[in-house]
Amino acid sequence: MSKDDRSPVNPFTGKKHYDNVNDDEFLAECYKVYYEEINKHELLDQTEIGQQVINISKNIVMAVEEFLKKINRYDYVEGYYDWEVHLINSNIVNACCYPGGKIVVYAGILQYMKTEDDLSFVLGHEISHALLDHSRTQQSVNQTKSTVSTATYLGSFALDLFGLTQFGNMARAAINIANTGSQFLLTQPWGRDHELEADKLGLILSHLAGYDIKGVPEFWVRFSQAGGNQFDFFSTHPSDDKRISVMNDTINEIAQNPDFLSKPLLPETPKVNK
Ligand SMILES: [Zn+2]
Repeated sequence: MSKDDRSPVNPFTGKKHYDNVNDDEFLAECYKVYYEEINKHELLDQTEIGQQVINISKNIVMAVEEFLKKINRYDYVEGYYDWEVHLINSNIVNACCYPGGKIVVYAGILQYMKTEDDLSFVLGHEISHALLDHSRTQQSVNQTKSTVSTATYLGSFALDLFGLTQFGNMARAAINIANTGSQFLLTQPWGRDHELEADKLGLILSHLAGYDIKGVPEFWVRFSQAGGNQFDFFSTHPSDDKRISVMNDTINEIAQNPDFLSKPLLPETPKVNK
């Protein structure tokens, strides 16, 4: 199934995401980079921990697909994502997920984990970036910034008036990037929002897959104190305090046994209450 055969409404946010990329080209380029990275390294897929990485990823993807079937979003289940995960023998403290569902875990990150629950959070976070179209949105903004004009800028306010606030904000953000010639707006606030979104959805997915997420904030403290916050391919990150605050809020919400099926799991970027 191609992107155009799916509903443009993301099942996790309940919103249409800003998107102007040609998906065939975009995914082909992403997969090329992914396989270049995989082929450069020794893989630990056949080791015990490598199998654990693969099994946990499978469990989370199964939980995602079960959830999507329950909310009748078969268009997101059937053949769009091409999930694949490898554990790379490297001291790099990192993990990332390329669009389309291609995941890399670098073994250096494992030293901070005490349980498979910690690992499930990292994989849930990475899978969430793909499910939330984060890279595609960033790529779309990158493309837009070279084509925007004053008329578009004014038009962005009309989008706000018509209730499409998200698009208005995105259009203005793109124009600001074009005007300043900087990556600031692209990498700063959006990078931060995207990390908080992936943290929250990642925790929910890990929970839905049956993992115990209570220890995740503690894992993050260990990880960040060791200078580990170089997590995945986004160059800019929210502060560890903010992330831990959102993690704790999410864990408290989940403890209330919410009805996950009646409304989107991530209707807005998590707010930081401090
Ligand atoms: Zn991330």
